[in-house]
Formats: sequence, C-alpha cells, structure tokens
Amino acid sequence: KEIVVKESNVAKIKVVVRKRPLNKKEIARKEDDIVTVHDNAYLTVHEPKLKVDLTAYVEKHEFCFDAVLDENVNNDEVYRVTVQPIIPTIFQRTKATCFAYGQTGSGKTFTMQPLPLRAADDIVHMLRQPHYRNQKFRLWLSYFEIYGGKLFDLLSDRRKLCMREDGRQQVCIVGLQEFEVSDVQIVKEFIEKGNAARSTGSTGANEESSRSHAILQLAIKKHKEVSEMKRHNDGNESKGGKVIGKISFIDLAGSERGADTTDNDRQTRIEGAEINKSLLALKECIRALDNDQIHIPFRGSKLTEVLRDSFVGNSRTVMISCISPNAGSCEHTLNTLRYADRVK
Ligand code: ADP
Ligand code: MG
Repeated sequence: KEIVVKESNVAKIKVVVRKRPLNKKEIARKEDDIVTVHDNAYLTVHEPKLKVDLTAYVEKHEFCFDAVLDENVNNDEVYRVTVQPIIPTIFQRTKATCFAYGQTGSGKTFTMQPLPLRAADDIVHMLRQPHYRNQKFRLWLSYFEIYGGKLFDLLSDRRKLCMREDGRQQVCIVGLQEFEVSDVQIVKEFIEKGNAARSTGSTGANEESSRSHAILQLAIKKHKEVSEMKRHNDGNESKGGKVIGKISFIDLAGSERGADTTDNDRQTRIEGAEINKSLLALKECIRALDNDQIHIPFRGSKLTEVLRDSFVGNSRTVMISCISPNAGSCEHTLNTLRYADRVK
C-alpha cells in the first residue's frame, strides 16, 4: 500500500534545539550546567554575571522552539522528531534540508552522522513497496564539502568541483560523483569513506573540519536506462534519471568560526569571513522561505547558492541547533539560540 502523507501536515520549517551532556573535562573542572530544558519545548539559560562591585548574580534567558531535546534524548529520538516526518514528502517532489548548527564541540557531528543512515533505511524500505518499485524509483547518494568557499567531492579524493546554474533554477555541481545505493550497508560505507576525506589539516583534530560545511545528499530518481536518456534528453536529467525529490544533510562549520575575522593568520581570517557570510546568508534564506518571499537571497554565499534548488518551490527545512551546557560556553550558547530564534 502506498504511503501518502498530506504535505500540509509537515511544517515547512522546524527549529529544534539539542543540548548535549557535560563532558568529562567540564565535570573535572566542576563547571556548572547552566541550561535547563522544560517539557521538551522551551529552555532557560542561567547566565553567570558579575556586578560592578564583583558580587555574582544570574541573568535568566528563556527560549521556545518547536522542540527542545535534553541530554537524555538519544539519536533515535532525534531522528524521529526531526527527519523522519519529512521522508515521505521527498517522494512527492519536495526538496528537504536538515542543518546542524552550533559552536565546535556542541554535538553537530554526533547528531548529524546517524541521520542519513536512518533516513536511507526508511527510504530503501519505501522503495521496496510495489508502488515505487513499479515507478522505478531509485536512491542516489553524494557527499561533498564547502571549505573556504570552494567545493570538494568527499567521495572522489577531494576532487575540486564547480557549480553551474542551468537557467531553470536547477543547480548543477559539475563533476560531483553520485552513486546509486540499494541497501543501507552501502550507504554506511560511503558515509565512512566521505568522513575520512573531510578536511583534517595538519592538526588532524576537529580543528579543520570545524571550518567546513559537509553536505550529504540522498536523491530519489526515476530510473532511466542510459540509452533511453540519450533518446529523450530534455536537459533536465541527471545521472540515472530525473530527480523526484531529495534530502540534504548539512553539518555546518562551527558557528564561532565566523568570528575568526580578526585572527592573526590571513588564511584563517579569509575562512572566517566566508563562514560568517554563509551562516548569515543561510539565516536570511530560511527566513525568506518562511515568509513565502518570492526573492530568496541565495546568492549571498556559496553554501546558499549550492542549496538554491532547496530554497525554491516545495521545500522542507529542519534546523537542529546544538548547544553545550557548560558555563564556559554561555556566550556561544546564547548566540546559537538567538540565531535559531531568528530563523524560526
Ligand atoms: P561538533 O561537531 O559540534 O564540533 P561533536 O559532535 O564532535 O561536536 O561533539 C563533541 C564531543 O561531544 C564528541 O566527543 C561527541 O561524542 C560528544 N557528544 C556530543 N553530543 C553528545 C550527546 N548528545 N551525548 C553524548 N555525547 C555527545
Ligand atoms: Mg563536527
């Protein structure tokens, strides 16, 4: 039986906040947990402050979102709340996007990594239903990175890619490798291969990957044989057939990196400026989308240009804002929550 989901039932834009637990270092430093989550719907940040006479006091900040997930919520639950509801819409010509936003170390990668795998599992399951099998729907995967405003294919030795628009609001990333995937194990292997290829620089640590946006796309295409495509090529075909719908998972650069614009190192400053530009442009695009604006300012950055086709027409956006609970991260946490609040 075909699963039909009324698109109106799934919000166009959803903003979810996820708080991670205190880590070992923070506990060892006896840092306070300053974030309290209430009823999975709102949260309070207790900001430690000092008066002029140096007496300590706490300033409280309250924020409300579509959902607020505390440190006890596991990745299965995160998937259930964020991505799972929009999966059926991508079978109905929708472009969906799921972002993880937050400072480095707040849990973006931890949150994002398992999502495409679970999504692929659900998609593969739906594709096996006779209705979609008969229509020859297939699943395709690609994985690339935006680093310093440039695109790199994570599934073909970091080959540098460029972007082209076809005048019909379709974005084409020239040379991006796409792979047909028919079971979840293969998806897992591709994700691991791509992760290993992410920018790690000389330090090898979180350091460099925190300056890049990683974009994993799962596309559903209506299968066409190569010979068939040659005969009927209407210019709107991609490898494997026409795109029915797709979902992009985006592990954004660390939000604090956008402030690197005063760093001593020139390269770091350039990258910081690019990150700052892309996160601002992203916010503007999501807001424009929410207001059903006709003009979407996607030209503001490489990130939003690449996502152009996800900002026009039928789209669904989920923003997962990740926050650290420790007192030392208070300023970054408030910045992340204010950004999320602005998007909503
Ligand atoms: P980011 O990608 O935002 O820089 P990570 O996802 O790498 O942050 O998370 C930083 C560290 O915190 C990692 O060691 C990760 O395993 C851990 N972590 C993040 N979120 C959680 C969580 N919800 N529960 C347990 N550990 C977490
Ligand atoms: Mg990360």
